[in-house]
Amino acid sequence: MTAQVGYATGKCPKCGKTYTRKRPTFPIICDCYKFCPLCGQEMTLYTPDLTPTVYQSEKGVKALYVCNNHGPPYYSTQTAVEVVLT
Ligand SMILES: [Zn+2]
Ligand SMILES: [Zn+2]
Repeated sequence: MTAQVGYATGKCPKCGKTYTRKRPTFPIICDCYKFCPLCGQEMTLYTPDLTPTVYQSEKGVKALYVCNNHGPPYYSTQTAVEVVLT
């Protein structure tokens, strides 16, 4: 481990966004999981309707966010991505 001073950089493995922080640094959470990978708009929190009659497994009850700009809507299961700065 090399002792470095100055700035640390890290890249989000999901969206490729790079972060630069002054040392000392801590892992940071990239907010790309909130944004639709198709259109880039911020998605809305998905609240699953658990009524058995409308249950659709392909929708995925594990979906966390939904983007209604698409038909059918895009369901995202992505969770927050921790970016480690080195
Ligand atoms: Zn990201
Ligand atoms: Zn979208």
